[in-house]
Amino acid sequence: MGVPPGAPSDAGRAMMGGMDVAGLAAELAPALPRDAVITDRQRLRTYECDGLAHYRVIPALVVLPETGEQVAAVVRACASRRIPFVARGSGTGLSGGALPHAEGVLIVMSKMRDILEIDLDNQRAVVEPGVINLQPTRAAQPSGYYFAPDPSSQQVCSIGGNLAENSGGAHCLKYGFTAGHVTGVEFVTPLGELVEIGGKAVDFPGYDLLGAIVGSEGTLGIATTITVRLTRTPETVQTVLAAFEDTDTAGHAVSAIIGAGVIPAAIEMMDALAIEAAEAAVQCGYPEGAGAVLIVELDGAQATVDRQFEQVTAHCEEAGAFELRIAEDDTQRALFWRGRKSAFAAVGRISPDYIVQDGVIPRTVLPDVLRRIGELAQDSGIRVANVFHAGDGNLHPLVLFDAAVDGQAERAEEVSVAILGLCIEYGGSITGEHGVGMDKAKHMPRMYTDEDLDTMQLVRCAFDPQSISNPGKVFPTPRLCGEVPGRHKGAHPAQEAGLAEVF
Ligand SMILES: Cc1cc2nc3c(=O)[nH]c(=O)nc-3n(C[C@H](O)[C@H](O)[C@H](O)COP(=O)(O)OP(=O)(O)OC[C@H]3O[C@@H](n4cnc5c(N)ncnc54)[C@H](O)[C@@H]3O)c2cc1C
Repeated sequence: MGVPPGAPSDAGRAMMGGMDVAGLAAELAPALPRDAVITDRQRLRTYECDGLAHYRVIPALVVLPETGEQVAAVVRACASRRIPFVARGSGTGLSGGALPHAEGVLIVMSKMRDILEIDLDNQRAVVEPGVINLQPTRAAQPSGYYFAPDPSSQQVCSIGGNLAENSGGAHCLKYGFTAGHVTGVEFVTPLGELVEIGGKAVDFPGYDLLGAIVGSEGTLGIATTITVRLTRTPETVQTVLAAFEDTDTAGHAVSAIIGAGVIPAAIEMMDALAIEAAEAAVQCGYPEGAGAVLIVELDGAQATVDRQFEQVTAHCEEAGAFELRIAEDDTQRALFWRGRKSAFAAVGRISPDYIVQDGVIPRTVLPDVLRRIGELAQDSGIRVANVFHAGDGNLHPLVLFDAAVDGQAERAEEVSVAILGLCIEYGGSITGEHGVGMDKAKHMPRMYTDEDLDTMQLVRCAFDPQSISNPGKVFPTPRLCGEVPGRHKGAHPAQEAGLAEVF
């Protein structure tokens, strides 16, 4: 189990900012529903990690508010004592973003799960932040609309979490990430003010505060109501599975398709090792001998889809596809997707342990980067299975290892970090969709200069002058508001106190 930098001792848990946990709990209780304040250590444990379960911290206190006003009351209580707080949606995040603070309050949004309005005339849904990603789709589908961002965790992750992570999914190639689908929020600032930003209309004047909030990973405050776009359900969907000798040829097909001006709803790629894992887990029956498969999905008006479908199949054949399968119906389409959607869990069939990495590169360098990942794997003796959203260059290398074998976990970590290095080298980024969170904060200086990070910090400090909203996430060092950032002479007081490290 990893101990995050700065995780305090048990002794430190009893007091928070000079006030004891029981005192804060007693003060919050009247402002919240019955049983909405958790102090029992066993129950607190339920919330000790998110989807990145090797980091665990037990929060000092958990609260489960039911309204925006209640969230604001909790944040105000924290702000008046400089107590850190962390928002949590469904806890499926893969970068430790919702990892609690041991001397702070975890504000869990799971009781705020109502769809407040489906406004078909304006193509909007207004939802509470704990609403599960698929809920608005289920509500609007009978009327021919859906909520387009589709992370693979969409059956369980919350729209508050999607907003905070700017989550993507297979179909975000055509429809864009969450940022393109949020038009307004009711938001609690880290000072405890409840404010409205944006609404059902678009392009409000003034600074784009909504743009700053989406993707801010809970560091600028807490969304308590979210207005999202609803998208028209396409008239038709066509899906093709193309098998190639290797990822190089499959990569060329992707470039040719997009270069021709066709934007499929999704283009997903799996390499030989990922296919092997998926076959072992769900017997998806992909073409035998494939070194790579592409799943290309087109949607829209029938005539457009028919025309684009011909272009896609032609480009796949020209690039060297040796087999093309066309989904005849929804059952066959579901079978094509089954292998892809099961891929992460499926690698458990071929390896006892694995790291899910997440990076992004420009699409055109896919073949080069995959070749370099292959070399890393060969040199280190660590296998890497590749599954990715090929259309937008979002890689999900699965780095396989056996923790029981001496040194393998360390070598796997080195390979995983080296893959991020490749993403940066080729003009990409250290995260495509899983966020920076706790896990990747240390890699931020590999992408950004001190001046870049200081500029981001100015934005953070404008929202959160006390640095209490999800501290320790996204930024690599304890850059505190009020300091002259980036020009540190000697060690920061937090370093001297052993509370933080510089990586
Ligand atoms: C199997 C699996 C598949 C996944 N597939 C994808 C995928 O395809 N694409 C993708 O992008 N991600 C994917 N993820 C990652 C994860 O599901 C997403 O990041 C998701 O958006 C997190 O939502 P959550 O409700 O679980 O948020 P949490 O994990 O609870 O929180 C995530 C972050 O959001 C902040 N937060 C939560 N609620 C609020 C709020 N109301 N206001 C402000 N900040 C808030 C938290 O502080 C934290 O920083 C996957 C995860 C798993 C386990």
